[in-house]
Amino acid sequence: MPEIKTYQYFADNAWHDPAGGGYFDSENPADGEVWARVPDCRQADVDRAVAAAKAAFYDGPWGQMPPAGRGRVLRRIGDVISRHADRLGTVELRDNGRIPNCAPGLKEGGWQVDSWHYYAGLCDKFEGRVIPAELPNMHNFTTWEPFGVVALILPWNSPLGTLIWKLAPALAAGNTVVIKPSEQASCSVLELMDVLAEADLPPGMINVVTGFGSTTGEPLIDHEDVRLVSFTGGTGGGRAAAAVAARQVKPVIMELGGKSPQIVLPDADLDLAVNGIAAGIFPAGGQSCISGSRLLVHRDVIGAFTERLVDVVRKARVGPPDDPASQIGPMANCAHYNAVRARIDAAEAAGHRMLLDGRGAAQEKGYYIGPTVFADVPNGSDLAQNEVFGPVVSTESWADDEEVIFTANDTIFGLAAGIWSRDVARAMRIANRIEAGTVYINNYFNAATQSPVGGFKQSGYGRENGIEGMRCFMQTKSVWLSTDPHQPDPFPARESAHDAV
Ligand code: NAD
Repeated sequence: MPEIKTYQYFADNAWHDPAGGGYFDSENPADGEVWARVPDCRQADVDRAVAAAKAAFYDGPWGQMPPAGRGRVLRRIGDVISRHADRLGTVELRDNGRIPNCAPGLKEGGWQVDSWHYYAGLCDKFEGRVIPAELPNMHNFTTWEPFGVVALILPWNSPLGTLIWKLAPALAAGNTVVIKPSEQASCSVLELMDVLAEADLPPGMINVVTGFGSTTGEPLIDHEDVRLVSFTGGTGGGRAAAAVAARQVKPVIMELGGKSPQIVLPDADLDLAVNGIAAGIFPAGGQSCISGSRLLVHRDVIGAFTERLVDVVRKARVGPPDDPASQIGPMANCAHYNAVRARIDAAEAAGHRMLLDGRGAAQEKGYYIGPTVFADVPNGSDLAQNEVFGPVVSTESWADDEEVIFTANDTIFGLAAGIWSRDVARAMRIANRIEAGTVYINNYFNAATQSPVGGFKQSGYGRENGIEGMRCFMQTKSVWLSTDPHQPDPFPARESAHDAV
């Protein structure tokens, strides 16, 4: 039996036991064994972390540091992370079992390290404007200001990946942060704090509290010294978090779930489409926000398409993520495994035609589900409308472009969409009318640090990545400077009851 590691939480550059003394277990989803204990932080721990972040912002060196200096620190963070990629990747794999693992992205030249360097370079590129305001003897200009203490709330499917999209731009903008990872996968974020000791960061600049949504997340969002919330998670969690933030009219950035359509046109290269669509959902076991799980395939090719799809995905090897032969890992935790299985059971009970049943991938230990494909699933059904967040796709046929545009948009979500066609003009006409934050044509699942991502409709608001991603962590200040030595008389004589003001 391997030793169970007990973590502490991180505030003011120091490790702490939770004031209430509570911990919860972290299971390895590959075998269901408990491998770590994580602090169950409550109000007193949240208060400590927020106080550290507040002091760092108002009194510490971070709050006073000029943008170019912040850039140097961010570059250092990226370099330090790249030296510990395998360690961080191993912990995250143990925590949520997700393939592909984050380690390659954390290495020199990997996307996460590049993100740190990108935002390091962006720190001193935000320039204000001089506004030609129509007032005599007045100079008006704008500056970009940080918010102060920012709360970063994370999901379990990709803790370090979703963190970097928030943390680097939040710090680049000059904020200090308190991170709350998911109770289902907290350990890689805590491990990151240990690694960052090498970066010699000012105390209080980054803090981490661990715990549950209602008992750690809500007190954090509701803390009066937290000025902005950036939340990634499900739409239900997002609604609850936004409601808490609304008590103090606190701005929130929301990166939520989706039910993204993949539209296959009759002239599509079917091999390209099948491979692209399969890659866009199955390797991660469907546990990605932009998984394209709602397949809308033209009626002339749906038979050939589904046959190829089933043929390709049934060969994928489902197994322990630390075995290089495995191509699909487990569901990230027991509760989620049960939830995904229940959705498959319900879809079957609803009478949808099952072409491939992933429940057969179950193993004696661990939380394995293989690719699952349903046919003839009406768009109004539960399976087509609600995110499964598992390796499950629904297919439905369509006959003309107007119909498929309507069906693709007929959802509360608007995170992403894929379009597969050799006719680029037709694909563009459809893309222009899709309500989604990201639209892919003849590819899927790509992202780059430079390119903004985010949702339309109930998939969220605000953007991550790129210049927009940093702007969301800044607010505009308008400064008026008078060059007039004389103030006007505050109470000039009035000529009539209708004087212009
Ligand atoms: P979740 O909403 O259950 O939890 C997300 C985080 O919010 C967790 O840290 C949780 O503790 C916290 N939380 C929950 N309720 C809260 C509350 N009332 N107040 C404060 N904090 C609260 O989501 P999850 O199951 O961890 O993650 C999966 C979801 O995340 C999926 O729906 C997926 O689509 C979405 N996701 C979206 C993106 C994106 O960029 N749009 C990226 C990854 C995941």
